[in-house]
Amino acid sequence: MSVAAQQKRWQPLLEQWVVISAATSDRPWSGALTAPVQDKKPSHDEACYLCPGVTRASGVTNPLYNKPWAFDNDFPSLSGAADMHQVDGEVIESDVLRRAESAGGVCRVMCWSEKHNVTLADLTDTQMAEVAALWKHEYETLSARKNINNVLIFENKGIETGVSNLHPHGQIYATDFVTDSATRMRRAQHNYRVEHDQRLLQAMIKRPEYQSELLVERGEHFVTIVPYAARFAFESWIVPTRHVTSVASMSNDELHELARMYQRQVRRYDSIFQRSCPNVTLLHNAPCDGDDTNSDWCFYLVMQPPLRDLNKVKYLAGFESGGGNIINPVLPEVAAEQMRRCDGQV
Ligand SMILES: [Zn+2]
Repeated sequence: MSVAAQQKRWQPLLEQWVVISAATSDRPWSGALTAPVQDKKPSHDEACYLCPGVTRASGVTNPLYNKPWAFDNDFPSLSGAADMHQVDGEVIESDVLRRAESAGGVCRVMCWSEKHNVTLADLTDTQMAEVAALWKHEYETLSARKNINNVLIFENKGIETGVSNLHPHGQIYATDFVTDSATRMRRAQHNYRVEHDQRLLQAMIKRPEYQSELLVERGEHFVTIVPYAARFAFESWIVPTRHVTSVASMSNDELHELARMYQRQVRRYDSIFQRSCPNVTLLHNAPCDGDDTNSDWCFYLVMQPPLRDLNKVKYLAGFESGGGNIINPVLPEVAAEQMRRCDGQV
């Protein structure tokens, strides 16, 4: 494969350049290393606030659940639907030098399993289908709520992602505002449809590189790919072959396939990194603020492990936080090839 080891690649959804610099992975390393957590975890931990029957710090006792279950986060980053039209009695939103708006919402926790010591990789097909049904139910009910304009479903897995509890779980931030990334992705998808009369993601996955060197797995309704402008080493996306705005608009067949392909991708990461791989997973469903351009949005699922190779943590440091362009030290074509070598089965 003849791919330049250093180049900028355009990420069309976020409308930003990503620097692909495979040369940086050869650099001598004396920074932080990460290692597999070797401790054997029990299947039930009385000290875990996500295990069934445990009383949480809020005083609420968890039900004896035996399938995926969700509840409101006791310590939400966002709550209520705050009215920030006035701060200190002063109307401020019109002054760009001192501008504020409400930041209200609902934060929820979704437990994937009652067992403390499993991950999504361990679940049965039926259990994965129940996880996907929970995504759908949560998106449908939250997006229907007054004052909720965006529902971001995600999972921070592993201590490297800053997660505070290792029980298998995901989270939802349902906000009364559309996030900055969602605003950019919505604008990009709308503009692409207007200019090309096609949907951005479906046009993208029809390109030849997504039939070959950037393809990981092709299903009936979805493809798993490494994006051409992957922002993280070993980033991958699961993209529907038809335009579908959210999990709420998927058929049961589609939802089940999404769950199975997602699980296979979790297992591929575990296989490549030889451990239960830390990961940030994002389900990008359409905003629900009633904007006309939401119909141009296409659902996709993103996985971004916070690692640059087997045991090195990837940090966003000076150039990236200051310059705004992420440097990916692994060629996306190389990452895809490694993923293709794993079938994602147990
Ligand atoms: Zn637990």
